[in-house]
Amino acid sequence: MELVHPHICIASILGRLDYWVDVPAVSYACSGVQTVPDVLPIRIEFENSEFFKADKLMSPAAPYPAETLLETATVEGFRKFVEIVSPGRVRVHFDLPACAWWFLSRHEESRIEKRDSHGRFLCSYSTLPPELYDQPLVTRWFERVEDLVRKISGLPVRAPMVGTAPIAVTHDVDLLRKFPLFSPRCLVRSYREGRLGECLKVWFRRQKDPYDALDALTHLHDETGIPGTWFLMGGGTHPSDADYTLSDHRLAPLGTRLDCDTFGLHGSYDSYLDAKKIYHEAVSLAEALKQRVKPIIRQHYLRLDIPNTWLAQSEAGFTVDASGGFADRCGFRHGWTGAFRPYSPLTGRELPMTEIPLNAMDMTLSRYERLDPESAYKRMQTLHANSLSRHGGVFTILWHNTLNDRVVHGDMYDVFDSFVRNTSARFVKLDTI
Ligand SMILES: [Zn+2]
Repeated sequence: MELVHPHICIASILGRLDYWVDVPAVSYACSGVQTVPDVLPIRIEFENSEFFKADKLMSPAAPYPAETLLETATVEGFRKFVEIVSPGRVRVHFDLPACAWWFLSRHEESRIEKRDSHGRFLCSYSTLPPELYDQPLVTRWFERVEDLVRKISGLPVRAPMVGTAPIAVTHDVDLLRKFPLFSPRCLVRSYREGRLGECLKVWFRRQKDPYDALDALTHLHDETGIPGTWFLMGGGTHPSDADYTLSDHRLAPLGTRLDCDTFGLHGSYDSYLDAKKIYHEAVSLAEALKQRVKPIIRQHYLRLDIPNTWLAQSEAGFTVDASGGFADRCGFRHGWTGAFRPYSPLTGRELPMTEIPLNAMDMTLSRYERLDPESAYKRMQTLHANSLSRHGGVFTILWHNTLNDRVVHGDMYDVFDSFVRNTSARFVKLDTI
């Protein structure tokens, strides 16, 4: 894989941030590349860490150690790296463009080959400690730059942020049956798990299947007025794919939400590199819903191969992906809160896609981070607080109907219910971010 013209990405990142319109003009220098004419009144020079030199790019390592990345994200810490050269001219002894590029392009994922059994890059494979992903560091760095620009241009410094980030509640519908009717495999599995009695009760309609919980989820949305974003599968033949077709009567509770919620495609297990598969699944979903599917997609199992999955999704007609989270760790995989335009290290250009990263998934809290409900609740509160940004931060949650299997997940299902009912945050759908 060749990495070319990284400065194009940085230029577009800087150019897109809305706070640049507040100041007369800004120029910046990065790695020896002057992207804006030198005649402008404010100049910020970032240290050239030589990160973009070919030999350095072969390494997955971030441009600086973890401590420096964390320190520069804070107001006090960032100040230590700033040198006022002359009025209107500032030198920052930190290669912010390189660091931002490292996170947003997920550079290390193109340099580390290790993947889990589902082909995913996990947080535990990162060269950075997992705690680094608990904050949107890139967002914080750009907030520090905004502070700096305001200071040297004589504009009033922004007051500290107050309030909470909007929350986007999303649901992937994977499975609707814990105990598939009269399945010998299910019988054996239930016996091994000590749940044979429960299985038989479900089979003979003495008890509801624990996965059959869409009515509980839609009831919560109805009752609270919280809008939701649902991802449904439109196909897939892998054993890990959906156990339903789009005509399954157990999807009926979603009918009441068709007019008020957003419905996108949950790309099947094998679709993440296959534009044709994604396209055909989208067509099936649109036919079933009898309406156009929003061009928004999340891949099953969060199988996001950067940038190839984005390319396949784009080719299939999608413009928004919501798969950008680590399966094994909640937080900020891209160092960013809210939406951003992905970048392809293959071409050195932005892709015609918007990424809205996933910040907290129920299965991650329960299975990978192994948190009890109380700790999971606190973790969600912390990540929600960290999602706040001056420039469109959002906290994205994924909660499955399968968490309703309390034998496996205990009271984790209630964490979501309690969290969304007890917050004063505004709720948004993914397509309105
Ligand atoms: Zn899924």
